[in-house]
Amino acid sequence: MFRFFDLSVIRTARLSPTMLRVTFAVPADFVSGGRDQRFKLFFPHPHQDRPVMPDVPDDDWFAAWRALDPDERAVMRTFTVRAQRPGEMDVDFALHGDLGPASRWASRARPGGHLLALGPTAPDNGGVEFAPPASARTILIAGDESALPAIGANLESLPSGASAHVYVQIAHDDDRQDDLPGPVTWLVRNRDVSLADAVQNAPVVDYAWLAGEAATVRAMRRHLVRDRGMPRDAVEFMGYWRRGSSEENLLAETLAGGTPHTPED
Ligand SMILES: Cc1cc2nc3c(=O)[nH]c(=O)nc-3n(C[C@H](O)[C@H](O)[C@H](O)COP(=O)(O)OP(=O)(O)OC[C@H]3O[C@@H](n4cnc5c(N)ncnc54)[C@H](O)[C@@H]3O)c2cc1C
Repeated sequence: MFRFFDLSVIRTARLSPTMLRVTFAVPADFVSGGRDQRFKLFFPHPHQDRPVMPDVPDDDWFAAWRALDPDERAVMRTFTVRAQRPGEMDVDFALHGDLGPASRWASRARPGGHLLALGPTAPDNGGVEFAPPASARTILIAGDESALPAIGANLESLPSGASAHVYVQIAHDDDRQDDLPGPVTWLVRNRDVSLADAVQNAPVVDYAWLAGEAATVRAMRRHLVRDRGMPRDAVEFMGYWRRGSSEENLLAETLAGGTPHTPED
């Protein structure tokens, strides 16, 4: 359901102070399931031109990649397919400085640049979480800039007859994306109420999708499940990043038995 793709950059577009869209060329067998379709991107280190991967068959890549020197092996990060069109797809990066290899790479991306992706080859591929039941009439969607690509794609595929209450935390007023379908409550960080407070005051809903900074996501989910009594399976949630921790650290925790990207109380 997933295979490696060599991606080349067709163009970039600065959407707002925080968000940068990179459009990659993709072959016909890159097949997104839409909505919050996640996939892996592999970045070079600052001293490299291209991401370094082991020369092994696709099925054996993970152990072989882990066995390589962490200072040399490609840096693996998780992203969302914001949109796919014939021959190309958009990935929207929430820029957060040069500390993150992904953010660093994106801010310097130019047409012709290369990345490696582990991407989906069929719409039903296990990398899509936004799945409101057909009976859901009201949906809550909340996240920060890292979740904005998924939120945009989710809103474009809302089930007919369902209405969504959408809360997005952004750094600047100009980070608003006014072309999203349906109303969005934009919450400017350090000016408006926090995302967690907004969700506390949100209307009662049948289904919720939450993503973004892990501690905030956990707090929002706890409120919906513990305080409001929403059924656990009606609340989809995912920590997309953690303050002060790279994605490597989160992966290392997962492999050691923690579950930073998966359901927890
Ligand atoms: C399923 C899934 C889908 C995702 N989709 C997207 C997407 O489409 N677009 C997107 O931009 N991100 C997305 N993310 C989040 C992205 O994978 C992380 O932000 C990742 O940490 C970025 O890698 P990096 O190399 O830039 O930073 P890292 O090296 O992982 O982290 C370096 C430092 O930056 C901080 N940091 C990481 N991310 C952010 C952030 N967003 N804002 C502020 N500080 C941050 C970390 O706390 C750490 O201190 C997704 C994550 C998941 C799990």
